[in-house]
Amino acid sequence: MARIFNFNAGPSALPLEVLEEAQRELVDYKGAGMSIMECSHRGKEYDAVHLEAVENLKKLLALTDDYAVLFIQGGASLQFAMVPMNLLGPGQTADYINSGAWADKALKEAKLLGGQVNAAGNTAKDIPTRMPAIESLKLTKGAAYVHITSNETIAGAQYKVFPKTEAPLVADMSSDILSRPIDAQQFGLIYAGAQKNLGPSGVAVVVIRKDLAEKAAATVPTMLRYKTYVEENSLYNTPPTFGIYMIALVTRWILRMGPEALYRQNAEKAGKIYAAIDGNPFYRATAVKEYRSDMNLTFRLPSEELEEAFVKEASKLGMKGLKGHRSVGGIRASIYNAFPVAGVDALVAFMKEFAKKNG
Ligand SMILES: *Cc1c(COP(=O)(O)O)cnc(C)c1O
Repeated sequence: MARIFNFNAGPSALPLEVLEEAQRELVDYKGAGMSIMECSHRGKEYDAVHLEAVENLKKLLALTDDYAVLFIQGGASLQFAMVPMNLLGPGQTADYINSGAWADKALKEAKLLGGQVNAAGNTAKDIPTRMPAIESLKLTKGAAYVHITSNETIAGAQYKVFPKTEAPLVADMSSDILSRPIDAQQFGLIYAGAQKNLGPSGVAVVVIRKDLAEKAAATVPTMLRYKTYVEENSLYNTPPTFGIYMIALVTRWILRMGPEALYRQNAEKAGKIYAAIDGNPFYRATAVKEYRSDMNLTFRLPSEELEEAFVKEASKLGMKGLKGHRSVGGIRASIYNAFPVAGVDALVAFMKEFAKKNG
């Protein structure tokens, strides 16, 4: 078996242990004589899986009973629309912190729906990349909510602390959910496409304070209404059962390893690569230091030709997916929870070699 070091930004690496567990259970799920994909979403086998995925997420995020955990199809991108559809009433204003490409997409979607949208800060075009400083945010009094992107996956910039807001704080945590300790009660709503830190694509996790699920206008379609998912425990229609099963396994893996140990390991992994960048003028980090992402580490080399050679040579050595997003270029190492320490060590060693040869 040859597993590569997978630096892809999403879909991205899953824990090998989890893949093997899914493989063992694939054809005959716990004696059911069929795979979990073939089980009824109303049957006892799937029911236990669904419940475990919800309970694990509740435990890992230390959620009180005021919150519900939902599974919704359509990825994080559908949440860009569902958030304003459900939470932005007529005549109300929503504040959007425009920190980059993802935040900008969320903001544009809210505008489409005709609500008042205020850009409470804008660093989307800043180079080096950064997040709008919390002290500088221009928040609206009485806003319906404040939208924040915790980690800009493309820019490689991340909020290390979150603003304390009067209005409910809504966060797109697609690329850093469960990667570090947070106080979930600080948020009214958290959403994340699963394919970065939680499982395969095809499902988004939404954590919502239940009172917010009551706010949608009567004209919002059933499937686009948070309340439907809260009331039916995300089982109003057929949910993406295999994706939710994988989330159950991935969250079980986090609980087994211990979230504190995992969070510490994430910080150490990022620290090693940033040390390699800072330790050699051949490399230049793309993000301002205080906002550097621990999940998506972006950096430049002296020229685009060298960057291309870097990606190509790394790939030959089994380190794949290091090319930066097409909109910004450069190098991006995405090292989510499941990305192994050995892969980080391999990259650091390669960076030293490559700089010595080409510097
Ligand atoms: C990947 C990503 C998205 C888009 O997720 P989809 O599930 O593909 O819709 C949104 N926001 C952030 C921060 C992302 O990293």
